Amino acid sequence: MKALLIIADGLAGRPRDVNGKTCLEAAWTPNLDELTSRGMTGLVDPIGPGIRPGSDTAHLSLLGYDPYTVYTGRGVFEALGTGMAVQPGDVCFRANFATVTPGKDGFIVKDRRAGRIASGQAQLAKALNEIHLGEKLGIEFEFRPSTQHRGALLLRGEGLSRYVTENDPHKVDATALDFQPVEGHNDESSRRTAAALSELVRYSYEVLYDHPVNRQRTLNGDHPANYILARGAADLPRLDSIEAIYGVCGAVIAGGALYRGIALACGMKRIDAPGATGGLDTNLASKAKTALETLRRLDYVFLHVKGTDNAAHDHDAKAKTAFIERIDAELIGPLMEDIDWERTHLAFTGDHTTPIDCGDHTAEPVPVLFVGPNVRQDSTITFGEREACRGGLCRFSGRVLPMLFNYNNWNPKFGS
Ligand code: ZN
Ligand code: ZN
Repeated sequence: MKALLIIADGLAGRPRDVNGKTCLEAAWTPNLDELTSRGMTGLVDPIGPGIRPGSDTAHLSLLGYDPYTVYTGRGVFEALGTGMAVQPGDVCFRANFATVTPGKDGFIVKDRRAGRIASGQAQLAKALNEIHLGEKLGIEFEFRPSTQHRGALLLRGEGLSRYVTENDPHKVDATALDFQPVEGHNDESSRRTAAALSELVRYSYEVLYDHPVNRQRTLNGDHPANYILARGAADLPRLDSIEAIYGVCGAVIAGGALYRGIALACGMKRIDAPGATGGLDTNLASKAKTALETLRRLDYVFLHVKGTDNAAHDHDAKAKTAFIERIDAELIGPLMEDIDWERTHLAFTGDHTTPIDCGDHTAEPVPVLFVGPNVRQDSTITFGEREACRGGLCRFSGRVLPMLFNYNNWNPKFGS
């Protein structure tokens, strides 16, 4: 048997998104509707009722883990997702290029995203990675860029701590913050980690501000990428791999580093679909093709699409609706054609609600669909928030992957 889990980030919405309908309800989705009429739907609270999920904690929960037990922070997933081999004891950060100018109390942040830099990141990262932190600290580090200004930072050495604050002030014309031990964690290792980070970002300006890439950016009128902002400190979460729990082997197909990283932490392999960007411009047909190829070799695939959430964060109902229609036509359509429906179960859902006017994640439950030979049918015929209220799955919390695997008889028995 095979299993395919598809998560469209921030899929669900509110009725005010498009004149009384959510984007999902407003979108033309004949393929999802067809699968709905063949399967069973319901509503899932990604973590629990009334809990506003982050994408990372929501995914852990949907994959069957308790985020309150295993979640250590976002940085480690970003680091894994960019391909860094994170080891126990390492502390990782979500990090990005920014534009700063020296001020009297420190560096003033002029652009938190360095003009969404689109080229030259590898050269800048190379220069950064040549920095040597003082011998006395005995700490090594690596910065690895992912998309645009984004990247991840990994610190390695004895006695590091994830209990350090960030340097991102989260607004422009503000002074970059000092790294400090998190309140209640003012111990030697947190102080040492904060000191190493402070030294690193100070050096980052020295090696970046006059780098040829930035000289050219300044000439072009672009913001130079002359500083590093780091947040989301995390070490490797301790969790049992999916293979250890269920005895099956699978892979992740995702353009976004965060989602690849979460899946890698759970023991999935990483498969790259050509043209998968983690944005609205992603190549959905390529992801469908890659998923079908991967399913021939492995037991299951987790496929993630991000554009739905990006459009909603930008308050763009039109773009979100259009992207959902693309998911239906370019991803679900080809999968429906070529999946071996005699021996495959599919689940489709989102990781949280992202309403258009709010532009951020909210706690409402998300429609979820299961389809395949062992799935009982219910009477729902279209895939959307309202229709899912009538679905046979009713309303439940998290654990979509274990529910999907159950149809393949992969789950361990609790008790005898
Ligand atoms: Zn999300
Ligand atoms: Zn989001």
